[in-house]
Amino acid sequence: MTAPRGRQFLHVPGPTNIPDRILRAMDRPATDFTVPAFRAITDECFDGLQWVFKTKGPVIAFAGSGHGAWEAALVNVLSPGDRVLMAETGAFSHWWRDMARAHGAEVDYLPGDWRHGVDPAAIEEALRQDRGQDIKAIAIVHNETATGIVSRCAEIGAAIARTGHPALLLVDTISSLGSMDFRMDEWGVDVAVGGSQKGLMLPPGLSFTAVSKKALAASRNAGMARFYWKWDRLLTTDGRPGFAGTPALHLFYGLREALQMLREEGLENVFARHRRLAGAVRAAAACWARPAGPELNALDPAEQSDSVSTIRIPEGCDAEAIRTICRDRYNVLLGGGLLDFAGKVIRIGHLGDLNEPMILGALSAVEMAYSELGVPHESGLQAAMAGLVAAD
Ligand code: PLP
Repeated sequence: MTAPRGRQFLHVPGPTNIPDRILRAMDRPATDFTVPAFRAITDECFDGLQWVFKTKGPVIAFAGSGHGAWEAALVNVLSPGDRVLMAETGAFSHWWRDMARAHGAEVDYLPGDWRHGVDPAAIEEALRQDRGQDIKAIAIVHNETATGIVSRCAEIGAAIARTGHPALLLVDTISSLGSMDFRMDEWGVDVAVGGSQKGLMLPPGLSFTAVSKKALAASRNAGMARFYWKWDRLLTTDGRPGFAGTPALHLFYGLREALQMLREEGLENVFARHRRLAGAVRAAAACWARPAGPELNALDPAEQSDSVSTIRIPEGCDAEAIRTICRDRYNVLLGGGLLDFAGKVIRIGHLGDLNEPMILGALSAVEMAYSELGVPHESGLQAAMAGLVAAD
């Protein structure tokens, strides 16, 4: 097969398309990061991140991927042996759980079926059962990128508040921040972690952490070993976020541009665009499923992710072959199944800098791959287009 021509369609659920404006903003020489002009840029970025996280508390940035911010969240608020309540939503909740265990935390892991989000009632019940208030933190993944399911974070925050339990709420917003609504302060979240390479449309390499006063206070007494990841090192004496080591200079120039783009479009409009494009994928998937074809993994309409759709491929059909054809013949990159879902699903990322024809292009490639492989399906393109037209 010859190399595919034309533009690459990037539909993995991160990293996402980097708009030309952001690439150009980063196309510059390095500078001394102590000069006031660079300080002004980072101050602007940190203010903008507070706006995105919807928090009045500090937001700090590590040079590191989302895994780094995960690790920082755990080691800053926990001591070895502390109990943490986590909920199984998919591969990413598994990996975060494994990380907590690796640091010596005792994890209570609420089981899940990978087709639903975190159950707020189960969290409430677990906290009510914890009469000694041993649980120090609840850690959940807002948008489980493996399953295409968004958990009802506002309801979880409200459930925790009802119990009066003092545990901190830690939330992974890595694949929701900047593409789906997230309200740190209003929902009672204490630590929220995000990454640069998803809804913020930047290259990978920066991770963000929003920290509540309660979490900051807990971090002063936490006993897990840390140095690079110590939040305190990034909160300088003048109260403004700083750096632990050399900052990822160019990414901050890109971040300033990304925040500007989000402000120009309006955060609520960004969310609405993601919802509209995700709706097109869901409309197509509803047709594909008839009578026994590929179907959307997320069962509850209230939990269907607007940033990634996980599509279950019928038994006897090869999910990886679909991805390979899309990649090699049509230059469309899709996500594959992770852990329990390996070889069983494809994941269509629809977050970041995307519009209607781009998503329709990806859906067309998927349908052509289905046809080539004999995957039973009814075409969903008309339904996808109809939804996009009607939405306006
Ligand atoms: N959490 C979620 C929900 C993710 O989607 C990802 C990456 O895709 C991560 C954590 C890990 O982030 P990173 O790959 O930036 O380390």
